[in-house]
Amino acid sequence: MFAAIAAAERGSRVVLLEQNEKLGKKIYITGKGRCNLTNAGDMEELFANVMTNRKFLYSAFYACDNQRVIDFFERSGCRTKVERGSRVFPVSDHASDVIRALSRKLEQLGVEVMLRTRAAKIVAEPCGQAGIAADSSVREGDAAQPSVQTGEEADSSVREGDAAHPSVQTGVSEGVPERSESYVRGVELADHTFLRADAVIVATGGFSYQTTGATGDGYRFARELGHTVIEPAPSLVPFLAKEPYVADMQGLALKNIAIRILHGKKLLYEEFGELLFTHFGVSGPVILSASAAIKPATAAQELSLLIDLKPALTQEQLDKRILRDFEGIKNKQFKNALEGLLPSKMIPVVPRLCGISPEKKVNEITKEERRGLLALIKAFPVTLCGVRGFNEAIITKGGVKVNEVNPKTMESKRIKNLYFCGEVLDVDAMTGGFNLQIAWSTGYLAGISAGVAHENSKKKKRLDEKINCTEERHGKNYLT
Ligand SMILES: Cc1cc2nc3c(=O)[nH]c(=O)nc-3n(C[C@H](O)[C@H](O)[C@H](O)COP(=O)(O)OP(=O)(O)OC[C@H]3O[C@@H](n4cnc5c(N)ncnc54)[C@H](O)[C@@H]3O)c2cc1C
Repeated sequence: MFAAIAAAERGSRVVLLEQNEKLGKKIYITGKGRCNLTNAGDMEELFANVMTNRKFLYSAFYACDNQRVIDFFERSGCRTKVERGSRVFPVSDHASDVIRALSRKLEQLGVEVMLRTRAAKIVAEPCGQAGIAADSSVREGDAAQPSVQTGEEADSSVREGDAAHPSVQTGVSEGVPERSESYVRGVELADHTFLRADAVIVATGGFSYQTTGATGDGYRFARELGHTVIEPAPSLVPFLAKEPYVADMQGLALKNIAIRILHGKKLLYEEFGELLFTHFGVSGPVILSASAAIKPATAAQELSLLIDLKPALTQEQLDKRILRDFEGIKNKQFKNALEGLLPSKMIPVVPRLCGISPEKKVNEITKEERRGLLALIKAFPVTLCGVRGFNEAIITKGGVKVNEVNPKTMESKRIKNLYFCGEVLDVDAMTGGFNLQIAWSTGYLAGISAGVAHENSKKKKRLDEKINCTEERHGKNYLT
Protein backbone atom coordinates (compact mmCIF):
# COMPACT_ATOMS: atom_id res chain seq x y z
CA MET A 1 0.00 0.00 0.00
CA PHE A 2 2.80 2.38 0.92
CA ALA A 3 4.69 1.52 -2.28
CA ALA A 4 1.56 2.07 -4.36
CA ILE A 5 1.03 5.46 -2.71
CA ALA A 6 4.64 6.53 -3.34
CA ALA A 7 4.41 5.53 -7.02
CA ALA A 8 1.03 7.20 -7.48
CA GLU A 9 2.29 10.39 -5.83
CA ARG A 10 4.81 10.61 -8.66
CA GLY A 11 1.96 10.62 -11.13
CA SER A 12 2.07 6.97 -12.14
CA ARG A 13 -0.98 4.92 -12.87
CA VAL A 14 -0.96 2.19 -10.26
CA VAL A 15 -2.87 -1.04 -9.80
CA LEU A 16 -2.74 -2.74 -6.42
CA LEU A 17 -3.38 -6.48 -6.43
CA GLU A 18 -4.55 -8.03 -3.16
CA GLN A 19 -5.57 -11.63 -2.90
CA ASN A 20 -7.64 -11.05 0.24
CA GLU A 21 -11.15 -9.63 0.32
CA LYS A 22 -9.79 -6.52 2.06
CA LEU A 23 -6.58 -4.55 2.42
CA GLY A 24 -4.17 -4.72 5.37
CA LYS A 25 -5.27 -7.95 7.03
CA LYS A 26 -1.90 -8.33 8.72
CA ILE A 27 -1.77 -4.70 9.84
CA TYR A 28 -5.11 -5.34 11.53
CA ILE A 29 -3.54 -7.85 13.94
CA THR A 30 -0.27 -6.00 14.54
CA GLY A 31 0.55 -4.71 18.02
CA LYS A 32 -2.31 -6.83 19.46
CA GLY A 33 -4.78 -4.92 17.29
CA ARG A 34 -3.26 -1.52 18.13
CA CYS A 35 -0.53 -1.50 15.41
CA ASN A 36 2.87 -0.40 16.64
CA LEU A 37 3.39 1.39 13.34
CA THR A 38 6.96 2.56 13.88
CA ASN A 39 9.48 3.47 16.56
CA ALA A 40 10.26 7.07 17.47
CA GLY A 41 13.88 6.34 18.40
CA ASP A 42 16.77 7.99 16.56
CA MET A 43 18.40 6.59 13.44
CA GLU A 44 21.01 4.76 15.48
CA GLU A 45 18.25 2.94 17.33
CA LEU A 46 16.44 2.03 14.12
CA PHE A 47 19.58 0.46 12.71
CA ALA A 48 20.52 -1.19 16.01
CA ASN A 49 17.20 -3.04 16.04
CA VAL A 50 17.61 -4.49 12.56
CA MET A 51 18.83 -8.06 12.90
CA THR A 52 19.51 -9.02 9.30
CA ASN A 53 21.20 -6.96 6.56
CA ARG A 54 21.22 -3.65 8.39
CA LYS A 55 23.49 -1.95 5.80
CA PHE A 56 21.13 -2.78 2.96
CA LEU A 57 18.50 -0.57 4.62
CA TYR A 58 20.67 2.54 4.79
CA SER A 59 19.17 4.34 1.76
CA ALA A 60 15.64 3.16 2.52
CA PHE A 61 15.72 4.40 6.14
CA TYR A 62 17.16 7.75 5.10
CA ALA A 63 14.71 8.13 2.17
CA CYS A 64 11.76 7.45 4.47
CA ASP A 65 12.57 7.61 8.16
CA ASN A 66 10.25 7.15 11.13
CA GLN A 67 9.37 10.86 11.26
CA ARG A 68 8.25 10.76 7.65
CA VAL A 69 6.03 7.78 8.49
CA ILE A 70 4.57 9.55 11.52
CA ASP A 71 3.96 12.73 9.44
CA PHE A 72 2.31 10.67 6.71
CA PHE A 73 -0.17 9.11 9.13
CA GLU A 74 -0.82 12.38 10.97
CA ARG A 75 -1.54 14.11 7.63
CA SER A 76 -3.71 11.20 6.53
CA GLY A 77 -6.00 11.50 9.53
CA CYS A 78 -4.43 8.92 11.86
CA ARG A 79 -3.09 10.74 14.90
CA THR A 80 -0.25 8.99 16.68
CA LYS A 81 1.21 8.71 20.18
CA VAL A 82 4.51 7.46 21.57
CA GLU A 83 4.57 4.85 24.32
CA ARG A 84 7.19 3.03 26.40
CA GLY A 85 10.24 2.03 24.39
CA SER A 86 9.47 4.82 21.85
CA ARG A 87 6.78 2.61 20.28
CA VAL A 88 4.39 4.59 18.09
CA PHE A 89 0.67 3.71 18.02
CA PRO A 90 -2.46 5.38 16.67
CA VAL A 91 -4.00 7.60 19.38
CA SER A 92 -7.21 5.59 18.97
CA ASP A 93 -5.39 2.31 19.76
CA HIS A 94 -7.05 0.85 16.65
CA ALA A 95 -4.94 -0.72 13.90
CA SER A 96 -7.96 -0.22 11.64
CA ASP A 97 -7.20 3.53 11.66
CA VAL A 98 -3.80 2.83 10.08
CA ILE A 99 -5.47 0.78 7.33
CA ARG A 100 -8.14 3.45 6.87
CA ALA A 101 -5.50 6.17 6.46
CA LEU A 102 -3.68 4.13 3.81
CA SER A 103 -6.92 3.21 2.01
CA ARG A 104 -8.04 6.84 1.94
CA LYS A 105 -4.75 7.92 0.43
CA LEU A 106 -4.91 5.18 -2.20
CA GLU A 107 -8.37 6.38 -3.16
CA GLN A 108 -7.33 10.05 -3.28
CA LEU A 109 -4.46 9.18 -5.60
CA GLY A 110 -6.66 7.09 -7.87
CA VAL A 111 -4.86 3.80 -7.25
CA GLU A 112 -6.95 0.99 -8.68
CA VAL A 113 -7.31 -1.63 -5.95
CA MET A 114 -8.17 -5.13 -7.18
CA LEU A 115 -9.27 -7.25 -4.22
CA ARG A 116 -9.60 -11.06 -4.33
CA THR A 117 -7.03 -10.94 -7.10
CA ARG A 118 -4.07 -13.25 -6.79
CA ALA A 119 -0.93 -12.66 -8.79
CA ALA A 120 0.16 -16.04 -10.10
CA LYS A 121 3.30 -15.19 -12.03
CA ILE A 122 5.52 -12.26 -12.89
CA VAL A 123 6.37 -12.24 -16.55
CA ALA A 124 9.75 -11.05 -17.78
CA GLU A 125 11.44 -11.19 -21.13
CA PRO A 126 15.06 -11.04 -22.13
CA CYS A 127 16.16 -7.51 -23.02
CA GLY A 128 15.99 -6.95 -26.72
CA GLN A 129 13.08 -9.33 -27.20
CA ALA A 130 9.74 -7.99 -28.44
CA GLY A 131 11.45 -4.77 -29.32
CA ILE A 132 12.78 -4.19 -25.83
CA ALA A 133 16.23 -2.76 -25.78
CA ALA A 134 18.61 -3.14 -22.91
CA ASP A 135 19.18 0.43 -21.88
CA SER A 136 22.85 1.02 -21.61
CA SER A 137 22.43 4.68 -20.66
CA VAL A 138 22.22 3.74 -16.98
CA ARG A 139 22.15 6.79 -14.76
CA GLU A 140 22.42 7.07 -10.96
CA GLY A 141 19.16 8.07 -9.36
CA ASP A 142 16.89 6.95 -12.17
CA ALA A 143 14.68 4.05 -11.47
CA ALA A 144 11.49 2.42 -12.56
CA GLN A 145 7.74 2.74 -12.24
CA PRO A 146 4.44 2.23 -10.56
CA SER A 147 3.51 -0.42 -8.14
CA VAL A 148 1.16 -3.00 -6.76
CA GLN A 149 0.69 -4.71 -3.40
CA THR A 150 2.17 -7.45 -5.32
CA GLY A 151 3.21 -4.10 -6.47
CA GLU A 152 2.56 -3.52 -10.08
CA GLU A 153 1.68 -0.83 -12.52
CA ALA A 154 -0.53 -1.76 -15.37
CA ASP A 155 -0.41 0.84 -18.05
CA SER A 156 -2.58 -0.30 -20.88
CA SER A 157 -1.38 2.60 -22.99
CA VAL A 158 2.05 1.05 -23.10
CA ARG A 159 2.67 -0.67 -26.40
CA GLU A 160 4.64 -3.87 -26.65
CA GLY A 161 8.19 -2.80 -26.94
CA ASP A 162 7.92 0.51 -25.08
CA ALA A 163 10.10 -0.23 -22.19
CA ALA A 164 13.77 0.30 -21.49
CA HIS A 165 13.73 2.32 -18.29
CA PRO A 166 17.08 3.41 -16.97
CA SER A 167 17.94 1.98 -13.64
CA VAL A 168 20.75 2.12 -11.12
CA GLN A 169 23.08 -0.80 -10.74
CA THR A 170 25.27 -0.08 -7.77
CA GLY A 171 26.98 -2.35 -5.32
CA VAL A 172 26.95 -5.25 -7.76
CA SER A 173 28.29 -8.31 -6.02
CA GLU A 174 29.95 -11.45 -7.23
CA GLY A 175 27.75 -13.55 -9.47
CA VAL A 176 25.16 -10.80 -9.87
CA PRO A 177 25.02 -9.34 -13.37
CA GLU A 178 26.16 -5.73 -13.81
CA ARG A 179 23.18 -5.10 -16.03
CA SER A 180 19.82 -6.85 -15.93
CA GLU A 181 19.40 -9.34 -18.71
CA SER A 182 15.61 -9.35 -18.63
CA TYR A 183 12.84 -6.87 -18.44
CA VAL A 184 9.59 -7.13 -16.51
CA ARG A 185 6.52 -7.24 -18.75
CA GLY A 186 3.64 -7.63 -16.32
CA VAL A 187 1.74 -9.97 -14.05
CA GLU A 188 -0.29 -13.04 -14.83
CA LEU A 189 -3.25 -13.40 -12.49
CA ALA A 190 -4.58 -16.64 -11.07
CA ASP A 191 -7.44 -16.53 -13.61
CA HIS A 192 -4.78 -16.29 -16.38
CA THR A 193 -5.54 -12.64 -17.19
CA PHE A 194 -2.35 -10.86 -18.13
CA LEU A 195 -1.79 -7.34 -16.79
CA ARG A 196 0.89 -5.55 -18.75
CA ALA A 197 2.97 -3.21 -16.63
CA ASP A 198 5.95 -0.93 -16.97
CA ALA A 199 7.10 -2.03 -13.54
CA VAL A 200 6.15 -4.53 -10.88
CA ILE A 201 6.74 -4.22 -7.14
CA VAL A 202 6.65 -7.45 -5.16
CA ALA A 203 5.27 -6.62 -1.70
CA THR A 204 3.85 -10.01 -0.83
CA GLY A 205 5.24 -10.33 2.71
CA GLY A 206 6.58 -13.55 4.19
CA PHE A 207 5.10 -16.82 5.49
CA SER A 208 3.97 -15.77 8.96
CA TYR A 209 0.30 -15.93 9.93
CA GLN A 210 -0.78 -17.33 6.58
CA THR A 211 -4.45 -16.49 7.14
CA THR A 212 -3.50 -12.84 6.61
CA GLY A 213 -2.44 -13.65 3.04
CA ALA A 214 1.22 -14.35 3.75
CA THR A 215 1.37 -17.32 1.41
CA GLY A 216 5.01 -16.84 0.44
CA ASP A 217 4.19 -16.26 -3.25
CA GLY A 218 6.86 -13.59 -3.50
CA TYR A 219 9.59 -16.13 -2.78
CA ARG A 220 8.36 -18.25 -5.68
CA PHE A 221 8.17 -15.23 -8.00
CA ALA A 222 11.73 -14.31 -7.06
CA ARG A 223 13.08 -17.84 -7.58
CA GLU A 224 11.30 -18.18 -10.92
CA LEU A 225 12.98 -14.97 -12.04
CA GLY A 226 16.43 -16.21 -11.13
CA HIS A 227 16.78 -14.69 -7.67
CA THR A 228 18.32 -16.48 -4.72
CA VAL A 229 15.98 -16.84 -1.76
CA ILE A 230 17.55 -17.31 1.65
CA GLU A 231 15.60 -20.15 3.26
CA PRO A 232 12.60 -18.60 5.09
CA ALA A 233 12.38 -19.41 8.79
CA PRO A 234 9.97 -18.40 11.56
CA SER A 235 11.28 -15.60 13.79
CA LEU A 236 10.04 -13.53 16.73
CA VAL A 237 8.54 -16.88 17.63
CA PRO A 238 8.16 -18.95 20.85
CA PHE A 239 10.51 -21.83 21.67
CA LEU A 240 9.60 -25.43 22.46
CA ALA A 241 10.86 -26.85 25.77
CA LYS A 242 11.89 -30.40 26.59
CA GLU A 243 11.01 -30.66 30.29
CA PRO A 244 7.42 -31.62 31.20
CA TYR A 245 7.53 -29.27 34.23
CA VAL A 246 7.39 -26.30 31.85
CA ALA A 247 3.82 -27.20 30.89
CA ASP A 248 2.95 -27.42 34.62
CA MET A 249 3.66 -23.69 34.83
CA GLN A 250 1.70 -22.69 31.70
CA GLY A 251 0.14 -19.25 31.93
CA LEU A 252 2.78 -18.00 34.36
CA ALA A 253 4.29 -14.69 33.24
CA LEU A 254 7.58 -13.82 34.90
CA LYS A 255 8.32 -10.11 35.02
CA ASN A 256 11.72 -8.50 35.64
CA ILE A 257 13.69 -11.66 35.07
CA ALA A 258 16.97 -12.09 33.22
CA ILE A 259 17.64 -14.87 30.75
CA ARG A 260 20.74 -16.42 29.24
CA ILE A 261 20.63 -18.82 26.29
CA LEU A 262 23.62 -21.08 25.71
CA HIS A 263 24.64 -23.53 23.03
CA GLY A 264 26.86 -25.87 25.01
CA LYS A 265 29.03 -23.38 26.86
CA LYS A 266 28.69 -20.63 24.28
CA LEU A 267 26.51 -17.73 25.35
CA LEU A 268 24.16 -16.87 22.46
CA TYR A 269 21.83 -14.35 24.02
CA GLU A 270 21.12 -12.57 27.30
CA GLU A 271 18.32 -10.17 28.09
CA PHE A 272 16.25 -8.72 30.90
CA GLY A 273 12.44 -8.53 30.75
CA GLU A 274 9.33 -10.67 30.65
CA LEU A 275 8.87 -14.39 29.93
CA LEU A 276 5.77 -16.54 29.62
CA PHE A 277 5.46 -20.30 30.21
CA THR A 278 3.09 -22.06 27.80
CA HIS A 279 1.80 -25.60 27.31
CA PHE A 280 4.59 -26.26 24.78
CA GLY A 281 7.48 -24.15 26.06
CA VAL A 282 8.33 -20.51 26.52
CA SER A 283 7.23 -17.25 24.94
CA GLY A 284 7.03 -13.57 25.94
CA PRO A 285 9.13 -10.57 24.86
CA VAL A 286 12.59 -11.83 25.88
CA ILE A 287 12.03 -15.19 24.22
CA LEU A 288 10.67 -13.70 20.98
CA SER A 289 13.64 -11.35 20.81
CA ALA A 290 16.00 -14.28 21.41
CA SER A 291 14.48 -16.12 18.44
CA ALA A 292 15.24 -13.12 16.21
CA ALA A 293 18.81 -12.81 17.47
CA ILE A 294 19.76 -16.49 17.20
CA LYS A 295 20.39 -17.94 13.73
CA PRO A 296 17.56 -20.29 12.62
CA ALA A 297 19.90 -23.27 12.20
CA THR A 298 21.17 -22.80 15.78
CA ALA A 299 17.69 -22.20 17.18
CA ALA A 300 16.66 -25.60 15.79
CA GLN A 301 19.20 -27.34 18.04
CA GLU A 302 19.05 -28.08 21.78
CA LEU A 303 19.90 -24.94 23.73
CA SER A 304 20.01 -24.20 27.47
CA LEU A 305 17.80 -21.43 28.77
CA LEU A 306 18.76 -20.22 32.25
CA ILE A 307 16.31 -17.93 34.00
CA ASP A 308 17.52 -15.65 36.78
CA LEU A 309 14.38 -15.17 38.85
CA LYS A 310 16.00 -12.52 41.08
CA PRO A 311 18.37 -10.57 38.83
CA ALA A 312 18.42 -7.56 41.16
CA LEU A 313 20.04 -9.62 43.95
CA THR A 314 23.55 -11.06 44.07
CA GLN A 315 24.03 -14.65 45.32
CA GLU A 316 25.01 -13.30 48.75
CA GLN A 317 22.08 -10.90 48.95
CA LEU A 318 19.69 -13.65 47.92
CA ASP A 319 21.17 -16.07 50.47
CA LYS A 320 20.70 -13.48 53.24
CA ARG A 321 17.15 -12.87 52.08
CA ILE A 322 16.32 -16.63 52.14
CA LEU A 323 17.88 -17.01 55.58
CA ARG A 324 15.88 -14.05 56.86
CA ASP A 325 12.65 -15.44 55.38
CA PHE A 326 13.28 -18.94 56.75
CA GLU A 327 14.15 -17.56 60.19
CA GLY A 328 10.56 -16.40 60.71
CA ILE A 329 8.98 -19.71 59.55
CA LYS A 330 11.32 -22.30 60.99
CA ASN A 331 8.69 -24.94 61.62
CA LYS A 332 6.88 -24.65 58.30
CA GLN A 333 7.26 -27.29 55.63
CA PHE A 334 9.52 -26.26 52.72
CA LYS A 335 6.59 -26.27 50.24
CA ASN A 336 4.80 -23.70 52.42
CA ALA A 337 7.87 -21.53 52.91
CA LEU A 338 8.33 -20.38 49.34
CA GLU A 339 5.33 -18.08 48.96
CA GLY A 340 7.23 -14.84 49.47
CA LEU A 341 10.02 -15.98 47.22
CA LEU A 342 8.42 -17.53 44.16
CA PRO A 343 5.20 -17.31 42.12
CA SER A 344 2.69 -19.97 43.17
CA LYS A 345 2.89 -21.95 39.88
CA MET A 346 6.61 -22.51 40.48
CA ILE A 347 6.26 -23.75 44.05
CA PRO A 348 5.44 -27.41 43.22
CA VAL A 349 8.24 -27.49 40.62
CA VAL A 350 11.12 -25.96 42.61
CA PRO A 351 11.39 -28.60 45.41
CA ARG A 352 11.49 -31.32 42.72
CA LEU A 353 14.36 -29.61 40.93
CA CYS A 354 16.49 -28.70 43.94
CA GLY A 355 16.02 -32.10 45.57
CA ILE A 356 14.58 -30.81 48.86
CA SER A 357 11.56 -32.77 50.06
CA PRO A 358 8.49 -30.49 50.01
CA GLU A 359 7.53 -31.84 53.45
CA LYS A 360 10.89 -31.10 55.02
CA LYS A 361 10.78 -28.57 57.86
CA VAL A 362 12.58 -25.33 57.03
CA ASN A 363 14.88 -25.62 60.08
CA GLU A 364 16.02 -29.06 58.82
CA ILE A 365 17.22 -27.75 55.44
CA THR A 366 20.99 -28.06 55.22
CA LYS A 367 23.35 -25.34 54.03
CA GLU A 368 24.10 -27.48 50.97
CA GLU A 369 20.39 -27.79 50.17
CA ARG A 370 19.93 -24.05 50.58
CA ARG A 371 22.81 -23.51 48.14
CA GLY A 372 20.98 -25.76 45.65
CA LEU A 373 17.83 -23.65 46.04
CA LEU A 374 19.85 -20.49 45.55
CA ALA A 375 21.46 -21.84 42.39
CA LEU A 376 18.05 -22.81 41.02
CA ILE A 377 16.59 -19.36 41.64
CA LYS A 378 19.56 -17.70 39.93
CA ALA A 379 19.62 -20.14 36.99
CA PHE A 380 16.31 -21.93 36.55
CA PRO A 381 16.99 -24.42 33.71
CA VAL A 382 14.87 -25.09 30.64
CA THR A 383 16.07 -27.05 27.62
CA LEU A 384 14.96 -25.42 24.38
CA CYS A 385 14.43 -27.76 21.44
CA GLY A 386 13.47 -25.69 18.43
CA VAL A 387 10.94 -23.00 17.66
CA ARG A 388 7.20 -23.03 16.89
CA GLY A 389 5.98 -22.70 13.30
CA PHE A 390 5.22 -19.84 10.92
CA ASN A 391 1.69 -19.46 12.20
CA GLU A 392 3.01 -18.29 15.54
CA ALA A 393 5.92 -16.30 14.14
CA ILE A 394 5.57 -12.53 14.03
CA ILE A 395 7.99 -12.33 11.14
CA THR A 396 9.76 -14.49 8.58
CA LYS A 397 13.54 -14.47 8.49
CA GLY A 398 15.18 -15.09 5.12
CA GLY A 399 13.84 -14.02 1.75
CA VAL A 400 15.16 -12.45 -1.43
CA LYS A 401 18.94 -12.18 -1.16
CA VAL A 402 19.73 -8.51 -0.77
CA ASN A 403 22.89 -8.36 -2.83
CA GLU A 404 20.69 -9.12 -5.83
CA VAL A 405 18.62 -6.00 -5.15
CA ASN A 406 19.78 -2.40 -5.56
CA PRO A 407 19.60 -0.84 -2.06
CA LYS A 408 19.13 2.64 -3.54
CA THR A 409 16.04 1.76 -5.56
CA MET A 410 14.89 -1.70 -4.41
CA GLU A 411 15.14 -2.75 -8.05
CA SER A 412 16.15 -6.29 -8.90
CA LYS A 413 19.63 -6.55 -10.34
CA ARG A 414 18.41 -9.47 -12.42
CA ILE A 415 15.19 -8.13 -13.91
CA LYS A 416 14.82 -4.50 -14.90
CA ASN A 417 11.82 -2.66 -13.48
CA LEU A 418 11.11 -5.39 -10.95
CA TYR A 419 11.18 -4.19 -7.33
CA PHE A 420 10.99 -5.87 -3.93
CA CYS A 421 9.98 -4.40 -0.60
CA GLY A 422 8.99 -5.44 2.92
CA GLU A 423 9.19 -8.86 4.46
CA VAL A 424 9.78 -10.71 1.18
CA LEU A 425 13.33 -9.36 1.38
CA ASP A 426 15.99 -10.96 3.59
CA VAL A 427 15.73 -8.23 6.21
CA ASP A 428 14.16 -8.36 9.67
CA ALA A 429 14.18 -6.57 12.98
CA MET A 430 13.22 -6.79 16.63
CA THR A 431 9.76 -5.96 17.98
CA GLY A 432 9.03 -2.30 18.67
CA GLY A 433 7.68 -1.03 15.33
CA PHE A 434 10.91 -1.74 13.42
CA ASN A 435 9.51 -4.36 11.05
CA LEU A 436 6.74 -2.08 9.83
CA GLN A 437 9.32 0.72 9.49
CA ILE A 438 11.28 -1.61 7.18
CA ALA A 439 8.11 -2.23 5.17
CA TRP A 440 7.28 1.52 4.90
CA SER A 441 10.86 2.55 4.05
CA THR A 442 11.55 -0.12 1.44
CA GLY A 443 8.01 0.29 0.05
CA TYR A 444 8.50 4.02 -0.28
CA LEU A 445 11.82 3.61 -2.08
CA ALA A 446 10.44 0.93 -4.39
CA GLY A 447 7.40 3.13 -5.12
CA ILE A 448 9.29 6.31 -5.97
CA SER A 449 11.88 4.35 -7.95
CA ALA A 450 9.11 2.75 -9.96
CA GLY A 451 7.54 6.18 -10.42
CA VAL A 452 10.79 7.67 -11.72
CA ALA A 453 11.25 4.83 -14.18
CA HIS A 454 7.71 5.27 -15.38
CA GLU A 455 8.44 8.94 -16.09
CA ASN A 456 11.59 7.91 -17.93
CA SER A 457 9.60 5.39 -19.88
CA LYS A 458 7.14 8.06 -20.94
CA LYS A 459 9.97 10.45 -21.87
CA LYS A 460 11.65 7.75 -23.90
CA LYS A 461 8.40 6.96 -25.64
CA ARG A 462 7.95 10.63 -26.56
CA LEU A 463 11.54 10.82 -27.78
CA ASP A 464 11.14 7.67 -29.87
CA GLU A 465 8.01 9.11 -31.42
CA LYS A 466 9.84 12.35 -32.24
CA ILE A 467 12.73 10.45 -33.80
CA ASN A 468 10.31 8.33 -35.83
CA CYS A 469 8.50 11.47 -36.99
CA THR A 470 11.76 13.19 -37.96
CA GLU A 471 13.00 10.11 -39.77
CA GLU A 472 9.71 9.85 -41.60
CA ARG A 473 9.87 13.53 -42.55
CA HIS A 474 13.47 13.28 -43.66
CA GLY A 475 12.62 10.15 -45.58
CA LYS A 476 9.77 11.90 -47.32
CA ASN A 477 11.94 14.94 -48.11
CA TYR A 478 14.58 12.69 -49.52
CA LEU A 479 12.07 10.86 -51.62
CA THR A 480 10.55 14.00 -52.93
C1 LIG B 1 0.74 -11.01 15.01
C2 LIG B 1 1.68 -10.01 14.40
C3 LIG B 1 1.90 -8.81 15.04
C4 LIG B 1 2.79 -7.88 14.50
N1 LIG B 1 2.95 -6.68 15.12
C5 LIG B 1 3.81 -5.77 14.59
C6 LIG B 1 3.90 -4.47 15.18
O1 LIG B 1 3.15 -4.11 16.08
N2 LIG B 1 4.84 -3.62 14.66
C7 LIG B 1 5.65 -3.98 13.60
O2 LIG B 1 6.50 -3.17 13.21
N3 LIG B 1 5.52 -5.18 12.99
C8 LIG B 1 4.61 -6.06 13.45
N4 LIG B 1 4.45 -7.26 12.81
C9 LIG B 1 5.24 -7.53 11.58
C10 LIG B 1 4.64 -6.76 10.39
O3 LIG B 1 3.25 -6.92 10.39
C11 LIG B 1 5.22 -7.24 9.07
O4 LIG B 1 6.62 -7.20 9.13
C12 LIG B 1 4.72 -6.36 7.91
O5 LIG B 1 3.31 -6.40 7.84
C13 LIG B 1 5.31 -6.81 6.59
O6 LIG B 1 4.74 -6.02 5.59
P1 LIG B 1 4.67 -6.51 4.07
O7 LIG B 1 3.96 -5.43 3.33
O8 LIG B 1 6.00 -6.92 3.61
O9 LIG B 1 3.78 -7.83 4.10
P2 LIG B 1 2.23 -8.07 4.57
O10 LIG B 1 1.83 -7.05 5.57
O11 LIG B 1 2.19 -9.48 4.94
O12 LIG B 1 1.43 -7.79 3.23
C14 LIG B 1 1.53 -8.62 2.10
C15 LIG B 1 0.21 -8.59 1.35
O13 LIG B 1 0.39 -9.18 0.06
C16 LIG B 1 -0.74 -9.97 -0.23
N5 LIG B 1 -0.32 -11.03 -1.17
C17 LIG B 1 0.60 -12.00 -0.94
N6 LIG B 1 0.74 -12.76 -2.04
C18 LIG B 1 -0.11 -12.26 -2.96
C19 LIG B 1 -0.42 -12.62 -4.30
N7 LIG B 1 0.18 -13.65 -4.93
N8 LIG B 1 -1.34 -11.89 -4.98
C20 LIG B 1 -1.95 -10.84 -4.38
N9 LIG B 1 -1.71 -10.45 -3.11
C21 LIG B 1 -0.79 -11.15 -2.41
C22 LIG B 1 -1.18 -10.53 1.11
O14 LIG B 1 -2.53 -10.95 1.08
C23 LIG B 1 -0.91 -9.37 2.05
O15 LIG B 1 -2.02 -8.54 2.18
C24 LIG B 1 3.52 -8.18 13.30
C25 LIG B 1 3.27 -9.39 12.65
C26 LIG B 1 2.36 -10.29 13.18
C27 LIG B 1 2.11 -11.59 12.45
